Amino acid sequence: DFVLEDTMNAEKKEDPRQQAVDAYERQRRTIKEVRESLPVYKYRDDLLAAIEQFQILIIVGETGSGKTTQITQYLREAGYTKNQKRIACTQPRRVAAMSVAARVAEEVGTKIGREVGYAIRFEDCTSDKTEIVYMTDGLLFREFMTEPDLNGYSVIMIDESHERTLHTDILFALVKDIARFRPDLKLLISSATMDAQKFSEYFDDAPIFKIPGRPFPVDIYNTKAPEANYLQACVTTVLQIHASQPKGDILVFLTGQDEIEQAQESLSQAMKTLGSKVAELIVCPIYANLPSELQARIFEPTPEGARKVVLATNIAETSITIDGVVYVIDPGFVKQNSYNPRTGMESLQVVPCSQASSNQRAGRAGRVGPGKCFRMFTQHAFLSEMEANTPPEILRTNLSSVVLMLKCIGINNLIEFDFMDPPSPASLQHSLEHLYALGALNDRGDLTKLGRRMAEFPMDPMMAKALLASEKYRCSEEMASICAMLSVSSAVFYRPKEKKVQADRAHANFVRPGGDHIVLLTIWEQWVETRYSMQWCYENYVQYRSMCRARDLRDQIIGLMERVEIIPEANPNPGDTEPIRKAITAGFFYNSARLQKSGDSYATIKRRQTVHIHPSSSLHEDKPKLVVYFELVLTSLEFMRQVIEIDAKWLLELAPHYYKTSDVTDDVKRKMPKTVKS
Ligand code: ADP
Ligand code: MG
Repeated sequence: DFVLEDTMNAEKKEDPRQQAVDAYERQRRTIKEVRESLPVYKYRDDLLAAIEQFQILIIVGETGSGKTTQITQYLREAGYTKNQKRIACTQPRRVAAMSVAARVAEEVGTKIGREVGYAIRFEDCTSDKTEIVYMTDGLLFREFMTEPDLNGYSVIMIDESHERTLHTDILFALVKDIARFRPDLKLLISSATMDAQKFSEYFDDAPIFKIPGRPFPVDIYNTKAPEANYLQACVTTVLQIHASQPKGDILVFLTGQDEIEQAQESLSQAMKTLGSKVAELIVCPIYANLPSELQARIFEPTPEGARKVVLATNIAETSITIDGVVYVIDPGFVKQNSYNPRTGMESLQVVPCSQASSNQRAGRAGRVGPGKCFRMFTQHAFLSEMEANTPPEILRTNLSSVVLMLKCIGINNLIEFDFMDPPSPASLQHSLEHLYALGALNDRGDLTKLGRRMAEFPMDPMMAKALLASEKYRCSEEMASICAMLSVSSAVFYRPKEKKVQADRAHANFVRPGGDHIVLLTIWEQWVETRYSMQWCYENYVQYRSMCRARDLRDQIIGLMERVEIIPEANPNPGDTEPIRKAITAGFFYNSARLQKSGDSYATIKRRQTVHIHPSSSLHEDKPKLVVYFELVLTSLEFMRQVIEIDAKWLLELAPHYYKTSDVTDDVKRKMPKTVKS
């Protein structure tokens, strides 16, 4: 017997299939251990009981306590996905939705897209089998258009609610409303900040469920004097920590992809010069446009003897937790959209983050043990230049797109809409006027047929209008390409430090008359001709990954166009870019600016705000009289990015509700004395 059993075991060990099963078992066991070690686990049963008892529950717990990854699974285990109903969990950022879904799929032991999936704009990774879906808040908002009672869901978890993104705020009101006539629906409002009283009051005094955290203390170090170049200061600090501090990974908060790529380059340069004298430093970036296979790298355990440094945007503040971080470097900035309802001007800018944000960032260092946070600003700046809290996005953004969608859902009276923090009447008024000028609303403020078609496109109404207008100008193929290219435009051109001259020369070959949209279109068309060649991108200093993303986006856009019955058509006269520029102007007429007498700066036509053509624009040298821009970026000056030349007559033709003849005649004529006219 003894012998027999032994041989059986030996056989079992050699069977590769059995080995795979064993490995799987081991992995399952560790996943189970990890899940049970999270702070939320102890409260699993209490939490489920509270959810059973109350329709709406506010859940509060430190970042990393397991809210996002565990609660959905508890609900599934407790049977909330019976009868084909889904559990939805919203995230403000698509990277978080994807990364969390991947983790939960792994924990559940399934492939992503089966029982656990995600849905983000232009990408639906779910199936008939899906029970738990992580989605962006914007996408759930969009679902109200097709399914106003959200009947396919048994639980809606509005996660990261403390972030107060525009879409999260709108969802609050919408889900609160449907909860009244859907008693079977459970609502969870989860947040990482302890200040949940406001949420509770808003949701008719819903109970607050607190998950006690267990953060370790974090020592905070400020700089003694302000830093002139915070990016350089961050890089230096990373190297100092690496050289002098004990084991532990580093997390650096930067404002966007450009900064992250710059820091990554500086760090790898510095490590090269240091050679093999120092331990390995593994640099992992994380930002929205990073391909998902690279995103996953930040979660890989750091090998013994090495140190990991994660260069992240705000996403690492609360949405995703990276285990092993002991050091945080915080320059104290964030890239934000700012909007002036008086001028209707919207621009992206890097601004100081709030004290609350900075404290959250510091907290990331204290998850595995006592940590250290290095702030690249003075204590004085913290107290005097940073606001206590970040104001909700709804108070500082353009509402046109949201207003259009609310109108589509049938919410007409926006003044009485149940906003947690109502936007200013000026801001609402401004959006209504803008939508009227675009033709999405009629003069009574009702949705038009055009408006309904525009709402089909999950993008800014200006872009939607340009796409729809391209049908009339017979260039819908080109507009789809331009639209896709615009959304990756900040990462199309590759310009490495040591090859700037070659890169600039290659990029100059793409320049065509008309402006930047035409340049982007040229790049796209040349790439298509090479059959999507990687080599071609390499030779022309174009980022292959961005082009692939544009290709995906373009397919989606063509799909959306077909949904509103636009048959894709290529410009019959490809040499003539006027139809394309007219279609763009039909959407973006609002963003028009006229060259000033100085010949250097521009002024927006209606409000006369001074703006400049971005130095990277193809129109920077030879400035046209009248332009339309895609977006404004505020750095040292207000810069227009992605600019085309237009004709003054088009504005009257394409936006008769908005421009009068007197707006578009140039300065010389307008200043003529009245007596001459009469
Ligand atoms: P909370 O939502 O309360 O901030 P989470 O549920 O996001 O907490 O995180 C719980 C744990 O899951 C953390 O330890 C985190 O590191 C881990 N985790 C989350 N996403 C991933 C991932 N993609 N890969 C590996 N671990 C992850
Ligand atoms: Mg979370």
